Amino acid sequence: MADLRRALELVRTVPDFPEPGVLFRDLNPLFADAEAVRTVVDAMAAGLPADVDVIAAVEARGFLLGGPVAVALGCGLVPIRKPGKLPAVADRVDYSLEYGTASLELPAGVLEPGQRVAVVDDVLATGGTVAAVCQLVERAGARVSAVSVVLELTALGGRGLLPGRDIQVLQTI
Ligand code: IMP
Repeated sequence: MADLRRALELVRTVPDFPEPGVLFRDLNPLFADAEAVRTVVDAMAAGLPADVDVIAAVEARGFLLGGPVAVALGCGLVPIRKPGKLPAVADRVDYSLEYGTASLELPAGVLEPGQRVAVVDDVLATGGTVAAVCQLVERAGARVSAVSVVLELTALGGRGLLPGRDIQVLQTI
């Protein structure tokens, strides 16, 4: 517990990024610290159901966590990517951001119907990103067992887009 607290204290708050008025939570100091990464990955893995088949990790910081969590759980990994990166695309979801829109894509041929999927990312803010991933997973016929993030920015109300989801959070801000 003390280790997790120390790890989370490494998250840095950067004002006015990426736009004026936004307080950006920067996890890079945490990622750079071997003990902190291990502690956070272990905590994320421990919070997920043991029978997860696949981690769906969100580009890009979700990859840094999703890979080690998948190894810890002994399950597979599906990278959920921004457009233009995948050689073969199964599906795409366009969604709204606070300002503008974004899209995410599911690789073709890697998610089986019925598989139990845990969605992993670094931060839950408005919830649009995780909701888009859940849509991709469920449209492929797989099931979202849980969502795991390091930080939840509660003021942005992300859970409102994720009703009924099992959401594991290491720290709420
Ligand atoms: P949402 O779609 O608004 O929930 O935003 C979540 C996505 O934006 C995640 O993929 C995060 O990586 C990124 N994000 C939003 N706010 C922050 C932040 O303060 N720090 C780091 N990433 C953030």
